[in-house]
Amino acid sequence: MKKIIICGAGIAGLVNAVRLAHSGHNVEIFEKNSTAGGKMGEYSESGFRFDTGPSLITMPYVFRDFFSDIGKNIDDYIKIMPLENSCRYFWKDGREFNAYTDPENLREEIISVFGEKEYDGFLNYMEYAKFFFDMSEKNILESEFKLRNFLSVKGIKNINKFISGKSINDLSNKFYTDPKMRQLFDRYATYNGSSPYLASQIFSIIPYIEFLYGSWYIEGGIHRIAQALIRLCGEFGVNINYGHELKDIHSASGKINMCIFKTADESRKEITDFDILISNFTNNRKLTGKEYFKSTDWSTSAFIALLGVNGNSVKLSHHNILFSDDYEKEFIDICEKKMPAEDMTIYISITKKSIAEDAPDGKENWFVMANAPSLTKNFEWTEKNSEEYFNKIIDKIGSFGIYDGNLKEDLLLKKLFTPADMLNNYGSEFGSIYGLSSNSLMTMFRRPKNRSDYYSNLFFTGGNTHPGGGVPLCFLSGKIVTEMINTDQKSI
Ligand SMILES: Cc1cc2nc3c(=O)[nH]c(=O)nc-3n(C[C@H](O)[C@H](O)[C@H](O)COP(=O)(O)OP(=O)(O)OC[C@H]3O[C@@H](n4cnc5c(N)ncnc54)[C@H](O)[C@@H]3O)c2cc1C
Repeated sequence: MKKIIICGAGIAGLVNAVRLAHSGHNVEIFEKNSTAGGKMGEYSESGFRFDTGPSLITMPYVFRDFFSDIGKNIDDYIKIMPLENSCRYFWKDGREFNAYTDPENLREEIISVFGEKEYDGFLNYMEYAKFFFDMSEKNILESEFKLRNFLSVKGIKNINKFISGKSINDLSNKFYTDPKMRQLFDRYATYNGSSPYLASQIFSIIPYIEFLYGSWYIEGGIHRIAQALIRLCGEFGVNINYGHELKDIHSASGKINMCIFKTADESRKEITDFDILISNFTNNRKLTGKEYFKSTDWSTSAFIALLGVNGNSVKLSHHNILFSDDYEKEFIDICEKKMPAEDMTIYISITKKSIAEDAPDGKENWFVMANAPSLTKNFEWTEKNSEEYFNKIIDKIGSFGIYDGNLKEDLLLKKLFTPADMLNNYGSEFGSIYGLSSNSLMTMFRRPKNRSDYYSNLFFTGGNTHPGGGVPLCFLSGKIVTEMINTDQKSI
């Protein structure tokens, strides 16, 4: 049994804590904020409830496996509910597309909106993406990152597919002819904060997973996952120390032997009685090593508006996308110029569509998000700039004609979050959502590995390390790190 301290109570930190405590270790968490869950936040005001981070769940089996592994019944903690429609897509010219989760409904929708040929393209795309999923499911998503995991006979035979340099957008162009169908599939690159024009075709596993496993929400809101993990920490005897920000470490003989925290009352606290440190963040240069911070290509961040709307939008679904006219220009703005996009794609999630209690009768809770660059000197999110960008977004929503009233006049509540808030709230590098961007395949080698290269008793868990961002992958990150510690504990 080891004494393990976990810094950061994000989803992977909490999953790690529960799994390790279940394995018999003595685990304690130190979190800088006064709440746990990290990016999986929640905000409530005047009868409106919002998930402030993740809004869509895929890979439901990952959650079921977690509860079963720790000997608990998932139904006692969270209810994972299927969505009939993953997302309703809108274009300015009035075209609409529903990404139904039922395969037959999806087939009919693709044929009716895009035609038979694009449906054939869809089947071929999925077949092509299946190869990457089959190659990566066990070797990458569920294992510690090791180059030799790629070097199976099948991997070597198909090495050209991995190193072809083809992007997500190249793949969309290969399988689809309709520019709107291409745009729809390009969008999946944004799920890990990258540009479809740069990110590898390997990430076609993202739409593959979504269409294969469907889209899900959690009864009562996605934040219920964080609440369930906090409850499990209590049940497994894991203490969460809130208001503890890791500021510094000391080491000797290749091991970290002291963590220094700044507490909420501004005092300094030294912790030395531990064998293993797990970091649920990668923002500390002493932990990650300076090399990591030589990177400049951080994943995207987000500009978010939480809106309490005095009305019902009959045209909108639970998840909605209003596409920009020129997707390539949008990503040049965000990923190359590092500026908020002039013409932005807008995501609107309204949980009220599935969870009646999330807004008062006759009203709706809109989570409105546009991709934004991580923080650079090129743009500052001052109050004035944020207001101006918000107004642009509202004007754009108006131009799509998807809301029958006057949205601006119908706003009962408005709360804005910028990339600067992402940095302050979660400490993620430069306000990015996923740390290093996945615009280059080299990211897999450059981001901190689950086990530190520098200290033998330091591990990283979470969306900014392996296997990557998103709630299910954070659950898998917590599983991988637990298995590494349990397997190697004699040598730590
Ligand atoms: C706007 C938004 C939308 C998203 N949408 C989706 C989605 O639809 N589906 C999906 O699957 N995923 C989505 N994600 C991604 C998903 O939320 C994240 O990948 C995941 O929650 C990250 O969890 P994590 O374990 O890496 O920890 P994080 O959430 O990054 O938490 C890290 C924790 O460490 C703490 N911390 C940081 N520095 C210190 C320090 N020095 N000392 C102590 N504590 C510290 C932070 O306060 C935080 O609590 C979204 C994220 C955002 C922000």
